[in-house]
Amino acid sequence: MTVVNIVTAAKGQLFRYLQPAALALILWFWSRLPDAAEDTSWMLTAMSIGILVGVQILEFVNERHVGWRLNRREFLTDLFYVVLYFTVIAKVGTALVDEPLAAAKQALGFSTPWTLRLPFVAQVGFGFFLIEFGQYWMHRLMHNSPLWWTHAPHHHLTQLNAAKGLVGNPVELFLVSLSVIACFDLPLNAVFCALSIDGAVAAFAHANVRFDPPRWYAYVFTTIEHHSLHHTVGYEETRCNYANAFILIDRMFGTFRAGESAVVGQDQRQRLAITQQFLFPLRPLLALLKSGRSMSADV
Ligand SMILES: [Zn+2]
Ligand SMILES: [Zn+2]
Repeated sequence: MTVVNIVTAAKGQLFRYLQPAALALILWFWSRLPDAAEDTSWMLTAMSIGILVGVQILEFVNERHVGWRLNRREFLTDLFYVVLYFTVIAKVGTALVDEPLAAAKQALGFSTPWTLRLPFVAQVGFGFFLIEFGQYWMHRLMHNSPLWWTHAPHHHLTQLNAAKGLVGNPVELFLVSLSVIACFDLPLNAVFCALSIDGAVAAFAHANVRFDPPRWYAYVFTTIEHHSLHHTVGYEETRCNYANAFILIDRMFGTFRAGESAVVGQDQRQRLAITQQFLFPLRPLLALLKSGRSMSADV
């Protein structure tokens, strides 16, 4: 065996176990933190951004498709959405959903003491399931209702990269972030750990990286193979693998499909600029107005 072969084999093994190792590391990090007396949400933001940067760097170490290579235009678009997400979307979600839900829970005297008695790993697993279960049904609804108009910009992506999970119409980004997790009594560290794991898997599942993970990992968690198939060309073909991070839910509800797609995009793979992504949900309304105008012109 030559040195090149040994290095290639070692690199393959490293990337094979990188995703499960990263999740274990995130779990370990949050489990070691003392129960938060002060606000640790900045740690969640720092970790989420750190993961995105780290996964983005991996794209240059073990690239999956040359056609998905990050260029200046894609980088600037991704950067815009990362900033938008962490400065606006996440905060709007907290203010409009999480905080009112927590206040209503308190006012109604609703509590779940059993979740506080669970071991940390089970609390994280439960939180992860709650987040993913909500996202799965919202995402599935978007593919089967007029909400598609808010989600379609995410499907007009013509390449996948680490931060592409955050690229789309802001209404969609807000809707998929909705969760009922605030209705349950869970330590903040467990919630933040679940969110960190969710974000990490979503970054891996959008990244232009050849991981080739172990089969057990791909059975439970969403991978780039599953998610690239969800991004494939053709509207009907996208109706599978809805889970953002917990692909087991698709297996449970019969929407799982095996395979992958190197070619992604909708409407003849038409790439949208940021303004087009923002205005996309207005297209049916504009088309209606336009047809009304041409009809009145015909009369
Ligand atoms: Zn989708
Ligand atoms: Zn996606």
